[in-house]
Amino acid sequence: MTYFLGLTGGIASGKSTVSALFKEQGVPVIDADQIAHQILATNQAVQAQLQAAFGVAVVKNGQVDRPVLAQQVFGNPEALAQLNAITGPAILTVIKHQMQIAAAPLVVLDVPLLYEQHYEQFCDGVAVVYVERAMQLKRLMARNQITVEQANARIDSQCDLAAKKARADFVIDNQGTPAMLRQQVLELLQQLCHKK
Ligand code: ADP
Repeated sequence: MTYFLGLTGGIASGKSTVSALFKEQGVPVIDADQIAHQILATNQAVQAQLQAAFGVAVVKNGQVDRPVLAQQVFGNPEALAQLNAITGPAILTVIKHQMQIAAAPLVVLDVPLLYEQHYEQFCDGVAVVYVERAMQLKRLMARNQITVEQANARIDSQCDLAAKKARADFVIDNQGTPAMLRQQVLELLQQLCHKK
């Protein structure tokens, strides 16, 4: 039996860093973002639906032009919902397939909008990577080289990270050093090994 651990957080809370630590420890990671990008690049049925919804220009040279698509949906909840309705089922199909063929005792499901898209129902437990807003803002500005206004807008477009933390089965606190983050991942791995 495989234990499926959902992994989520808020933008720049450290989810990708945690995901890399799991991989480094030999834990397979199913990466929803990577799957989404692959679908946009290759799935012609999805591409056709996106063109019908957002115009022919969203597909260029056989691939979805992600910046063009992003421009159309950013700050437009209705368009974003439409985009998710088109891509969501295809992403879920691939994730479910990867879950079925997973042959490890522990597999991480790395899903940025895990709770928003109700992926917790497919997980045995969910870990949330948490930082307080001020630190999230600082790290987001530094990583993306954006202004405080842009960073605040990005954070505000997501569900509240404190609410996700409250729902989590495991909280990974990323307010300390990278070494402290690493230690928590190792401890969580130990804990999950004993659960099996
Ligand atoms: P997410 O995947 O949640 O958007 P990242 O893993 O990319 O977040 O982390 C956001 C930024 O913060 C990155 O630039 C990363 O290098 C940095 N970072 C992550 N954890 C720490 C930490 N403990 N201390 C300092 N910087 C960190």
